Amino acid sequence: MDLTYTEQEERFRQELRRWLGEVLPGLPERPDPLDWPGRRAYDTAWQRMLYDAGYADLQREATPTQHLIFLEETERAGAPYVGANFVGLLHAGPTIAAEGTEEQRARWLPPILRGDEVWCQGFSEPDAGSDLASLRTKAVRDGDQYVVSGSKIWTSHAEVADWCELLVRTTPVTPETPKHKGITWLAMPMDAPGITVRPLRTLAGSTEFAEVFLDEVRVPVANRVGAENDGWRVTMVTLSFERGTAFVGEVVACRRTLAAVAREARANGTWDDAVIRRQLGRLNAEFMTLWRLTQWNVSEAQKTGGVPGAGGSVFKLRYSHARQELYDTAAEVLGAGSFDLGHDWTLDRLSSLSYTIAAGTSQIQRNIVAERILGLPKGR
Ligand SMILES: Cc1cc2nc3c(=O)[nH]c(=O)nc-3n(C[C@H](O)[C@H](O)[C@H](O)COP(=O)(O)OP(=O)(O)OC[C@H]3O[C@@H](n4cnc5c(N)ncnc54)[C@H](O)[C@@H]3O)c2cc1C
Repeated sequence: MDLTYTEQEERFRQELRRWLGEVLPGLPERPDPLDWPGRRAYDTAWQRMLYDAGYADLQREATPTQHLIFLEETERAGAPYVGANFVGLLHAGPTIAAEGTEEQRARWLPPILRGDEVWCQGFSEPDAGSDLASLRTKAVRDGDQYVVSGSKIWTSHAEVADWCELLVRTTPVTPETPKHKGITWLAMPMDAPGITVRPLRTLAGSTEFAEVFLDEVRVPVANRVGAENDGWRVTMVTLSFERGTAFVGEVVACRRTLAAVAREARANGTWDDAVIRRQLGRLNAEFMTLWRLTQWNVSEAQKTGGVPGAGGSVFKLRYSHARQELYDTAAEVLGAGSFDLGHDWTLDRLSSLSYTIAAGTSQIQRNIVAERILGLPKGR
């Protein structure tokens, strides 16, 4: 394991830093968090700028270390967040790159990288969240199409997405076919007839996710990634990206927020409170450790072909709790101001409640760490 950057990598950092210094001052503000179509337009325009400058292809062409440098530098400079492009760039795209055919890669990856097409994730269902393999949305083969019926829930960005990474049941559960064996991974176009998207409003007022109802939606068999009934294995690849690499950039963002909270504490006198100082110091150590863990994960993934392993669950577990603690500390520093909905940290604190649920709850991550890393017996 080597955690130092080479001269060539440092040159890449300097070039990127220069480019960010040139383009960022001219960028407008990202639209209000409640304006999803506006945010989609903003996020995809930023993706297009990255693409045109040659920085969008990082996950495929550049080394994982260059990708880390990209995250460090974009966060350091305060560049826009991946936003509406999250699923496409950070887990659907990487899954297609790892598991898709040459044709599928050519069809879906360039529009993701250019910001032309936005993806959402249709995994969870009303009775299949943590127990994902219990999903019931079914797909019945009719010639060269699947006919899909059922419903999904908590589908982030469904309102503005063009494509959905969708899990369906292609073989009913029987004593011979356990629930993990009859699942298939499909790419579903969100404009297909039979799809109804009903937005759900969050505590903070945003409609970032939705219920998605599927009534005999026709999806070409050619849109299947991996073999029929082999979707559970493909899903493990998607989840390993979602937990292992998708949130990595946000660790750097958390370090920036932490520095801002410390500045605010100094300015408003809460710094004099030893408990707050201790919390800030501990969080600083936590985010530094998470960044080292990220470097270690990347260094390990380089040896195994780039798909992150179960170690991603350690990262996801620590990261989601540390991020909640960061915003709790920010609220203590702000005092009564932490109830002001106009303050970024207030909205971030409200959404931080979801971090230990989204992308797999902390309990599920602990189960994975116990069973797959520590080799403890299965809980059920
Ligand atoms: C902000 C946000 C965005 C999301 N975006 C998407 C999305 O885009 N696409 C999508 O498909 N899904 C999405 N989800 C759904 C998310 O993946 C699920 O909410 C999550 O997997 C938990 O499932 P559940 O809500 O059904 O909880 P349940 O599975 O009902 O769990 C309830 C509680 O029981 C615990 N529990 C369950 N089983 C076990 C067990 N075996 N051992 C120990 N404890 C257990 C859980 O940890 C949890 O505390 C999102 C969720 C959030 C909060």
